[in-house]
Amino acid sequence: MKATSVTAASNGMDKLIALLKRRGFVYPSSEIYGGLSGFYDFGPLGVALKRNIENLWWRMFVENREDMYGVDASLITAAPVLKASGHLDGFADPLVECEKCKRRFRADHVEGDKCPDCKGNLGTARAFNMMLKTSLGAVEDESSTAYLRPETAQGIFVNFKNIIDTFHPRLPFGVAQIGKAFRNEIAPRDFLFRVREFTQMEVEYFVRPNDWQEHFELWRKAMLEWIEKIGISINSVHEAEIGDGDRAHYSQRTIDFEFDYPFGRKELYGLAYRTDYDLTAHTKGSGTELNYFDEDSKERFVPHVIEPSFGVERTMLAVLLSAHKEDEMNGEKREYLALPSAIAPVKAAVFPLLKNKPELVKKAREIYTELKKTEPRIVFDDNGNIGKRYRRQDEIGTPYCVTVDFETLENNTATLRNRDTGEQKRVSPTDLFKEISQ
Ligand code: ATP
Repeated sequence: MKATSVTAASNGMDKLIALLKRRGFVYPSSEIYGGLSGFYDFGPLGVALKRNIENLWWRMFVENREDMYGVDASLITAAPVLKASGHLDGFADPLVECEKCKRRFRADHVEGDKCPDCKGNLGTARAFNMMLKTSLGAVEDESSTAYLRPETAQGIFVNFKNIIDTFHPRLPFGVAQIGKAFRNEIAPRDFLFRVREFTQMEVEYFVRPNDWQEHFELWRKAMLEWIEKIGISINSVHEAEIGDGDRAHYSQRTIDFEFDYPFGRKELYGLAYRTDYDLTAHTKGSGTELNYFDEDSKERFVPHVIEPSFGVERTMLAVLLSAHKEDEMNGEKREYLALPSAIAPVKAAVFPLLKNKPELVKKAREIYTELKKTEPRIVFDDNGNIGKRYRRQDEIGTPYCVTVDFETLENNTATLRNRDTGEQKRVSPTDLFKEISQ
């Protein structure tokens, strides 16, 4: 396996990638062994950011709605499922190999017929199936072959009947899932953008066939609302209607939400009209009828599907690129992450002004403990001087810092500092929670 060094993959993102490594957000996977191309690990702050994004998505698209059901299906998928869905035969990218240096590329990612690295001739393109194969049990033969799922969607379709039988939902309704997907990408690149193991947040939204356009439009708006809420710069997002020849095999309409990454305008999310393709395919493949009985009209039919699909790593990258800023504060250069408070790994940091004054430390600890009862994303820090502490918190995107000083002991107010403006105001401990929750 070829190693990806953190900087080699950076592509215009060196400073951000260095910050994310230095501060414990993202590490190259198996780094002490030279790395594994297309895989990354999340450190303590990265996992916090990732979970906050996933939790916010789940709250917005599942918990806050009455028409959504969650599932968590297995990552290993039986081969017949992927045969029926079309992935075994059709989930392939065009691969070309350089005749000189033997490097492989995705044919649709290179211009012309020369190798981008050594200018050698590229051979003819062939289909390369991107699914990762594994084998179950002690005997390795065709019947033991299974696959790591290439998308979370199929785990939803194969549970369609279970949801119907257990919950008797009325159309329209959706089934949502957050989980890992695996693709043996020919050329993983651009840091978290194209990896071989990633997390998807997907909804399969089941509608009456005639209503698909209305729901496609509602989901388009919901996706834009999410993009703004999560802190992705909306001016850098563009909708692209995917033409007839370029859509996935199951889709009759697709919009890609593209983002202006430093390495170009590329897909962030997809919204697809999957028709009744999957339920019909699994009915054929499994012999189990996957359809819906309408109590009002007494009709039985196969619902159609709208699929909004969100990649977590691409979300993190777009959020981090949107939040990564440099400015000058108090005459000094500063690099910081202007993350929205809802997803910042740390919401507020509490400091005693001086580490060696027990009365300040005691009071700061009290405030920290009190805040942490209702908001877990609070940290305590008494290392270094106050300027350095502010710097450290700015760099990881903490929206607020609370400093306990001598005045706190007199009038019970602490200073509350805003990350983006550097402005400070005095706030009583009882109001602190209200302020940092904004
Ligand atoms: P691309 O054309 O960039 O390969 P795709 O069209 O194959 O992407 P979809 O099959 O629509 O992607 O997958 C849904 C979502 O999953 C994408 O919008 C993206 O957010 C995410 N995703 C897909 N492939 C990857 C990958 N290799 N690394 C990270 N995220 C991915």
